[in-house]
Amino acid sequence: MTTITMNRRKIVLSAVGATGLVLGSGRAGDVQAQAPRTPESNLGHYRFRVGEIGATVLSDGIIGGPPRVYASDAPEQELQEVLKRAFLPADHMTLNLNTLLIETGGRRILLEAGAGQTMGPNGGRIFARLAEIGLSAGDIDVVVVSHTHPDHVGNLRTADGGPAFPRATVFAPKADWDFFVLGEPDLSYMPVPEEFRRRFGAAIKRSVEPVAKGVELYEAGAEIVPGLTTIAASGHTPGMVSFLVHSRGDQLLLTADLAYHPVVNIDQPWRPGPDRDKDAALSARRRIFDRAAAERIPVLGFHYPFPGLGHLLRTDTGYAWVPAGWQF
Ligand SMILES: [Zn+2]
Repeated sequence: MTTITMNRRKIVLSAVGATGLVLGSGRAGDVQAQAPRTPESNLGHYRFRVGEIGATVLSDGIIGGPPRVYASDAPEQELQEVLKRAFLPADHMTLNLNTLLIETGGRRILLEAGAGQTMGPNGGRIFARLAEIGLSAGDIDVVVVSHTHPDHVGNLRTADGGPAFPRATVFAPKADWDFFVLGEPDLSYMPVPEEFRRRFGAAIKRSVEPVAKGVELYEAGAEIVPGLTTIAASGHTPGMVSFLVHSRGDQLLLTADLAYHPVVNIDQPWRPGPDRDKDAALSARRRIFDRAAAERIPVLGFHYPFPGLGHLLRTDTGYAWVPAGWQF
């Protein structure tokens, strides 16, 4: 049994190495794809279908911070009780980075680029995830981001300043581009230290710089490709959207950052501190959550525990998150 396991590991590792060799173009994405997986790591992808569209959640890793940041209006004692009841640490909340690859119409489309190293050392795993499924960054045709926060655009830039997805057309919401990329935004609304805000703003500009020339700026409501529609969800940022993937009567709703963690933003109604316009964010959250609940649409949460799939249930007082069961 031990032998079989070891042989398997060897096979996986050499397959990853081979992908890097075949596609080795000197880009950081390929370098990361060649990085050996540590023996203790789990695979970080999860496949399913939406009608005829192939879908794969690819984990870019994790980020996190003080729970207070993600539950800005929670009474302190209640917040601590809720975290304890959910078996979560009192002082740190982990957020996942669940990017979604969809394959439709002969194109590979990545929804959210992921964080890279912009928000700590535990992002930037997407290139290894792509290698797990036999792909590399050069196989991605389109990248669509819901908004331009660093954890959604960080992987667009390689370490040497090039475009990390060399063939991809990048789609970003115009209102976010105007605000964060072209503008000099006042980020004092974010409940984090000034130094963090400064790095946050700079990371956005730096991450999108290699793709700025060819970027496609979209308005909320736009259909990016057949089967992928954007839904206005501004509030968290000026231009944030939700995504609706649909095919042959099946649907999947991607809630982007309408909620960070189900325990504090769904099962409890607390508001994320980084929401720029908290009232607009709240009404977008209610409008889109109500639709998902009423139409029983499967949901993917970018920051929910991996793979982030489940349903939103309407309760007497708000909502409840119901994770989907694992499927082979
Ligand atoms: Zn985010």
